[in-house]
Amino acid sequence: MSNKPRVAVFDFACCEGCQLQIVNLEEEILDLIGAVDVVEWREAMSEQSSNYDVAIIEGSITRPEDEERLWLIRSRAKVLIALGACATIGGINKLKNNFDLRDVKKWVYGKDAEKPHLNTELTRSVAQVVKVDYLIHGCPIDRKEFTYIMRCILTGKKPEIPEWPVCVECKLKDNRCLWETGQTCLGPIIRAGCGARCPSSGFRCFGCRGYVNNPNINAAKDVIERYGLDVEVLKRKMNLFGSGNTQVTANG
Ligand code: SF4
Ligand code: SF4
Ligand code: SF4
Repeated sequence: MSNKPRVAVFDFACCEGCQLQIVNLEEEILDLIGAVDVVEWREAMSEQSSNYDVAIIEGSITRPEDEERLWLIRSRAKVLIALGACATIGGINKLKNNFDLRDVKKWVYGKDAEKPHLNTELTRSVAQVVKVDYLIHGCPIDRKEFTYIMRCILTGKKPEIPEWPVCVECKLKDNRCLWETGQTCLGPIIRAGCGARCPSSGFRCFGCRGYVNNPNINAAKDVIERYGLDVEVLKRKMNLFGSGNTQVTANG
């Protein structure tokens, strides 16, 4: 058996878009795959394994059976990585937490809503259920950041994840602030690392990387003051990714 770390990729409730980002790494993926043994990855291979060192989890936890499966994966993995907003903060799936779950099931499944296999529960992020070692933020993840974090993990280094708001990256790019055009941009309170992807294309930041740590302290105060904003008011405007706790930390 090789000495390479054994890696398994698992998905829960998600669109699989973050896994697709990994598949699309092209040359980079060959380097990464050369450094590890991929032992399970439903999107890319048919083999399965219960023997792995690193578990990469995409998706949020939305059913009782998801929780059991996640605990089992956690018990087997030395290192657990939450991949993408669904896993790190619950993602878009958390929108359903704003409604009565019986209504949600009826809207989605109609007359089949009460069938037992369609059971559902409040959406949680992976870190709300088990201990997470590393978080890879974004919806979808940034491919470069994924590669960087994986390399750090494989070489025993601590990845540096930005602890400053999107506004910092946005201003470095000399973008015109979208608050001037009447858009409700959440950049002052959202963790950077995406290169201010949305504001640089003329769209508001809607918060897919979750809150910067301690937004009351670390928000972009100059933007907040210039446009007469308030951190708590901004948080209330985070309706796509903001249903519940969106500030998470990991030990990595
Ligand atoms: S974070 Fe976004 S892209 Fe990734 S799986 Fe969830 S919905 Fe899809
Ligand atoms: S609020 Fe949005 S548009 Fe304005 S500087 Fe911050 S990230 Fe850029
Ligand atoms: S700008 Fe905001 S919504 Fe867009 S990718 Fe970055 S964190 Fe996500």
